[in-house]
Amino acid sequence: MEIFQVDEHIWAIDHELLGLPGVGVTYVVRGEEIALVETGTALTAPKTLAGLDALGIPREAVRHILCTHIHMDHCGGSGHLAAALPNATVYINSSVAEHLANPTKLMASVRRAVGEEAWPLHGELLPIPAERIHPAETLRLDLGRDVVLEAIATPGHSPDHLSYRDLKSGGLFIGDAAGLVMERWGLVFPVTPVPAYNLETHQATIAKLRALNLPRIYVTHYGPHDDVDHQLNYAAERLAELFDLVDRALADGDPDVDALAARWVPYPDDGPAGVVARSWSRMSVAGMIRYELKRRQSPTA
Ligand SMILES: [Zn+2]
Repeated sequence: MEIFQVDEHIWAIDHELLGLPGVGVTYVVRGEEIALVETGTALTAPKTLAGLDALGIPREAVRHILCTHIHMDHCGGSGHLAAALPNATVYINSSVAEHLANPTKLMASVRRAVGEEAWPLHGELLPIPAERIHPAETLRLDLGRDVVLEAIATPGHSPDHLSYRDLKSGGLFIGDAAGLVMERWGLVFPVTPVPAYNLETHQATIAKLRALNLPRIYVTHYGPHDDVDHQLNYAAERLAELFDLVDRALADGDPDVDALAARWVPYPDDGPAGVVARSWSRMSVAGMIRYELKRRQSPTA
């Protein structure tokens, strides 16, 4: 497990999401109070806890756990972390909060989305007592020592997606709104997953984020990036490219998701990184197809 400091008051714990380094982090934000941003999955929670130990942070000191959205690689560890961090409140968009209190439906949906090859890499969510889950969409969290986190709605990747602005650095915990920037694995592309991906709101989110002139984004997959304009523009271009691919395949008849995924993210590696690449690429192709089919059925919606 790797830990690195990304700002004066922010650290990243690489919790080896999906069994690999360089894929997912939990950010540790330190004011007088301590907040975690993103939780990884149930299987990465022990690594995150070991990271807190290595940073010398007592379990009682963590007061806040912020999730950007309801996908399991972002909030799947929240139950295990909440159980180990007795004073922590969990924050997520209230539209999906019930799934953390009762995760059965969420796990079934994720299993369908990620596919059988990648499902065992995710682990089972622990339910969180409802009174420990708070709505995040209007969150302004003052951690002391001038460290304040503020929620911004960034829908598209998922309808509930929020990002959190760190007002001290100006940087943004961006979740999946700018896609994957996993340089170690050469995987840089936006993820457009089933069941609720929306290209129109995602492009609007990217435009809104561009207008903020952010000095830095803290990407969940993976790490801090200062070339914010480049990352946002690249994500927007790749989205347009995926849309074209899907649109043409739909015009030709019944699209072959696996073949399209292999064309969109060619990744010949048969090892664990290949499993991740194929799972996220397939999920994205399927999500874009579903988005476009829904749009054609109700073009004004
Ligand atoms: Zn996601």
